Amino acid sequence: MKEHFNYLVVGTGLFGSVFSYEASRRGKKCLVIDKRDHIAGNIYTREVRGIHVHEYGAHIFHTSNREIWDYMSRFAEFNHFINSPMAIYKGEIYNLPFNMNTFSKLWGIKTPDEAREKIREQIDGLPIGEIRNLEEQALSLAGTDVYEKLIKGYTEKQWGRDCRELPAFIIKRLPLRFTYDNNYFSDPYQGIPVGGYTAIIEKMLEGTEVRLSTDYREFEKSQKTAAERGEDFISYDKVLYTGMIDEYFDYCLGNLEYRSLQFEVEDMPECDNYQGNAVINYTEREIPYTRIIEHKHFEFGKGEGTIITREYPRSWKKGDEPYYPVNDEKNNKLFSDYMELASREENVLFGGRLGQYRYYDMDKVVEAALQMVEKEL
Ligand SMILES: Cc1cc2nc3c(=O)[nH]c(=O)nc-3n(C[C@H](O)[C@H](O)[C@H](O)COP(=O)(O)OP(=O)(O)OC[C@H]3O[C@@H](n4cnc5c(N)ncnc54)[C@H](O)[C@@H]3O)c2cc1C
Repeated sequence: MKEHFNYLVVGTGLFGSVFSYEASRRGKKCLVIDKRDHIAGNIYTREVRGIHVHEYGAHIFHTSNREIWDYMSRFAEFNHFINSPMAIYKGEIYNLPFNMNTFSKLWGIKTPDEAREKIREQIDGLPIGEIRNLEEQALSLAGTDVYEKLIKGYTEKQWGRDCRELPAFIIKRLPLRFTYDNNYFSDPYQGIPVGGYTAIIEKMLEGTEVRLSTDYREFEKSQKTAAERGEDFISYDKVLYTGMIDEYFDYCLGNLEYRSLQFEVEDMPECDNYQGNAVINYTEREIPYTRIIEHKHFEFGKGEGTIITREYPRSWKKGDEPYYPVNDEKNNKLFSDYMELASREENVLFGGRLGQYRYYDMDKVVEAALQMVEKEL
């Protein structure tokens, strides 16, 4: 017997889930598969003793787009969490983003004029002509102290390279804030979904058939074989693919590069409060992780004991989890060559951060998925 679907959606992340929710509402029948053994892709949260653990790194929902905020609010109530990360450099603690609290701690100053003067003095004293690398770019924007204590080590850990070997374009601007405001994001809408992100995806996929631990290639092959043998099989009109675009094409043009991450989770049932903040960055190079997340603080201390995650940046090789695309000239060119191949695949849509090889915040993913729905349906 043949079971027929309008769409095979590859990936239960935010992109695939928004798409299948909207397609189902419009009367289309979707089958959603994921190679992982859980839904929700990288926004997956796991509940432990009332704490929602962000398994793939800290996720804070923030947007300037009222429509997207309202859309997401249909699936969850958002709390009033404001991201105010801290940084630790050699035992000294600073507020982020760089603001008057940071400057006051660095130099003992009080007013914006004093802070501006201090930064100007440091920039004027630099022997920098034409900007040749990230170090010179950051120094010329923020001066020596902010660069040495808060940018250098963190960036070198993130990219696995010396700042003098990194291109300047990585830091286009450095927001220096001359107010005592620790709110990291400037978007008017910000929060964490009460009950975790997984519950959002569960709602989006309610009533839709989902198959986990199912890789696209193997699934496709198994259905083809079943059809050839005259056994039960599944057919579909179209595929929405939210996996890696180069993997879809069997890396025939070469592989796109990423930076990866390793998450080290520590469960501390006996500890009530480990670091007093959801996110603390470690900005010296000698400490191998870039930040520690204490999950319970995303929901104002709810839950028993505490759970922390240390985040270690890693180089990436084929088979590792791809987190951040390396959008340099070489990779962007390769991606556009893959897009050329993609444009010839009549019944396949490519979406999401991996299908479109770009860093996408969650609000932008929802926006892009809704745009695809509008165009497609
Ligand atoms: C460390 C980190 C922190 C972040 N923090 C924030 C934040 O604070 N705020 C914010 O707005 N955004 C944040 N983001 C971005 C956010 O994670 C993404 O916008 C969002 O998760 C992308 O959703 P997606 O559906 O495109 O991809 P994913 O969530 O990656 O979903 C893709 C899914 O496809 C599945 N898949 C892939 N290939 C196959 C295959 N061959 N067969 C079957 N299934 C397959 C994968 O298993 C995965 O589940 C962060 C990202 C990272 C890496």
